[in-house]
Amino acid sequence: MTTTPSDPTLAVAKHPVPSYLDPKNLGPWEIYLEQVDRVTPYLGKLSYWAETLKRPKRILIVDVPIHLDDGSVAHFEGYRVQHNTSRGPAKGGVRFHQDVTLSEVMALSAWMTVKNAAVNLPFGGGKGGIRVDPRTLSLPELERLTRRYTTEIGLIIGPEKDIPAPDVNTNPQTMAWMMDTYSMNVGRTATGVVTGKPVSLGGSLGRADATGRGVFVTAAAAMTKLGMPLEGARIAVQGFGNVGNAAARIFHDHGAKIVAVQDVSGTIYSGAGLDPYALAVHLESTGSVLDFPGSEPVQTHEFWGLSCEVLIPAALEHQITASNAGQIQARLIVEGANGPTTPAADDILRERGVTLIPDVLANAGGVSVSYFEWVQDFSSFFWTEAEINARLERIMNEAFSSLWAVSEQHGVTLRTAAYIVACTRVLEARALRGLYP
Ligand code: GLU
Repeated sequence: MTTTPSDPTLAVAKHPVPSYLDPKNLGPWEIYLEQVDRVTPYLGKLSYWAETLKRPKRILIVDVPIHLDDGSVAHFEGYRVQHNTSRGPAKGGVRFHQDVTLSEVMALSAWMTVKNAAVNLPFGGGKGGIRVDPRTLSLPELERLTRRYTTEIGLIIGPEKDIPAPDVNTNPQTMAWMMDTYSMNVGRTATGVVTGKPVSLGGSLGRADATGRGVFVTAAAAMTKLGMPLEGARIAVQGFGNVGNAAARIFHDHGAKIVAVQDVSGTIYSGAGLDPYALAVHLESTGSVLDFPGSEPVQTHEFWGLSCEVLIPAALEHQITASNAGQIQARLIVEGANGPTTPAADDILRERGVTLIPDVLANAGGVSVSYFEWVQDFSSFFWTEAEINARLERIMNEAFSSLWAVSEQHGVTLRTAAYIVACTRVLEARALRGLYP
């Protein structure tokens, strides 16, 4: 029997549309689906399983009620999405942000699947989030929010099932509360349930700077390929949180010049270069990058057109779009954030000869050291920071070289190369495991 869908948008939809998303506005999930479509022609027989990538394995939506300090009760919406577990437990961060949506968390969880496979970590992909502006909560309120959320998603997380970590607006303290809450609920101290913990609680040395360090390592490898000197290279950074700040410091330490920084408070520029160490102190004390001594303010929209060699988007998704990709002066873009560039912008940059190191490679240093942390927690044997940084550099350099080779072999962007390698790994595991029952 044939049936006619009552909603015509379902009949013409380019992609399978989950009924829980608005079919006319799939948000970041739509971008991810387009990225997967671009890689399907390269998957050969494995494309038989490609549909797997277009559906998250498991989605949990939770209500997170807490007592506010004034005695009232507030409810927040929380998510944990396990996109894929073919190659191992789900792995990925938790973000607290007022704009978090299911579509966003789905896309972020899928990007974790691709990232973990692209750098060959034995993990699937997951992500979580709470739709909350954490700046509106006191520290005790944030603790109650984190603990209640952890209890709610406790149904599906665990050291061998799904391992959260920090992401936007979450940090080692958040992870300490999550570890403690999960541990109290299961009746034993389970350090391996989250990564990115404080070092005194089973965290790993080197984790705090790992994402920024990986951004630097992949950028330096690309600059060598492109014949771009690191010494004196002008770097523009969007976002001065964990990733942007660490990347800026490490570039600065290697002789590059941080000429521009943009964050939620504004945009600053200095042709002579900004000292990221002093900028971090200024941001901490004033709450803004603006008025940093020696810098001049720049209009927000002018950031993309600033003259520089390397551009590092290290804030949120959907920043480099068809409307600003044409203005970008940099020769190299290194995605510290997840999902900052739309597929249309990818095409424009490619045509303009701009090299882009995609998020799933560029920012994989964080989850790589999360993997080391998880391994160290299981063995209760901890490595030195030098060992961790050396292993991180090895993973990043090996992944960069193999993806660069695949991109040359097929004449595709580094993003498509990363998806070819990652999706092949995930779908090979899928095919070998087979369908149960
Ligand atoms: N949130 C980070 C990311 O997007 C780290 C995830 C992790 O360490 O599990 O890659």
